[in-house]
Amino acid sequence: MAAVLETPATLAPIREKVEAGERLDFEDGVALMESDDLLALGELADLARRARGGGDEVYFVQNLYLNQTNVCRVKCKFCAFAKTRKQEEAYTISADELVDDAVRQHAVASFTEIHCVNGENPHVDLEFYADVLRKLRAALPDVHLKFYTASEIHHMSMLEGCSHEDVLRVLQDAGLGSLPGGGAEIFADRVRQLIAPGKEHPDDWFDVHDTAHKLGIPTHCTLLYGHVETYEERVDHLLRLRAQQDATGGFLAFIPLAFHPENTVFERRGFKFTTGADDLKMIAVSRLLLDNVEHVKAYWIMMGLPMAQVALHFGADDVQGTVVREQIFQAAGASSGTEQKVPELVRFVRDAGRVPVQRDTLYNELRRW
Ligand code: SF4
Repeated sequence: MAAVLETPATLAPIREKVEAGERLDFEDGVALMESDDLLALGELADLARRARGGGDEVYFVQNLYLNQTNVCRVKCKFCAFAKTRKQEEAYTISADELVDDAVRQHAVASFTEIHCVNGENPHVDLEFYADVLRKLRAALPDVHLKFYTASEIHHMSMLEGCSHEDVLRVLQDAGLGSLPGGGAEIFADRVRQLIAPGKEHPDDWFDVHDTAHKLGIPTHCTLLYGHVETYEERVDHLLRLRAQQDATGGFLAFIPLAFHPENTVFERRGFKFTTGADDLKMIAVSRLLLDNVEHVKAYWIMMGLPMAQVALHFGADDVQGTVVREQIFQAAGASSGTEQKVPELVRFVRDAGRVPVQRDTLYNELRRW
């Protein structure tokens, strides 16, 4: 984006900080969130991305989404995925079934990553999760296994009566490659009480990631926005992630997740999908505040490809993947198709004036288009 826009007065001091390579603070974050000058926000975020070493590359990964079980004890109010064991749509897939399915899919779509998250199922144990990792590693040794959110890890530790470290060591030995970023939602207690009162405390989310990083397991981080949170609570969340990254440096990427109300209690209360303006603002402010997380993803499955394409000019440098089957956001009403073929992604990235780069989970370049 050409830097010909005049910076509005409220953002001028922030621009000076970005140009000087200075870290932005809480007040800066709130001022950015409160700005309605969308183009100025985008330009500033792109400036920050480039000033911190970002180039024209836009990354994507070929990945398969799997879920082992949708049975969950928690009942987050924003969730349309979870079921109780007695509900007709509840499922728990055995390791053998899941591996057979993954191998079949790999034969037709040679993905390099499997992304797997689940409900917090009280009826299976740690071995259930370790078993599938071992069997997948044996069947697909070159595929990176990005499995289990911090919430799931915490849940496993509660069920087993052991520490997060104990669980992570078992899973790491079984083939775990990295953790996805889910379960973070919004860290502020007020919001957590309203949307996910049964979920683990944020301190546990951070302890799982902190421990994973120290064990050499990289992780991802997220923020769920567009429900009951304030701008201040979004900024607070981002700054807590930034502090963790300062301490351990193990976050590979940040993914802002827009709340989808369909089939949740919030739909009945009249909540709507986030607007494109809010999605772009969230990407831009994340890029500006998270000066130590290298990659920000425009998760096309939620935003749709056209909006993800615009987000590439608002600080995002990753469009996630050629997703094969995704169930969680589809359950909550995401309308993007869930199988995005490489040529189409390449076209969207190129049309945004950027260079498509196929990566593996750890951001090693596999192919430049
Ligand atoms: S978001 Fe996760 S923990 Fe919460 S109800 Fe849904 S599956 Fe369960």
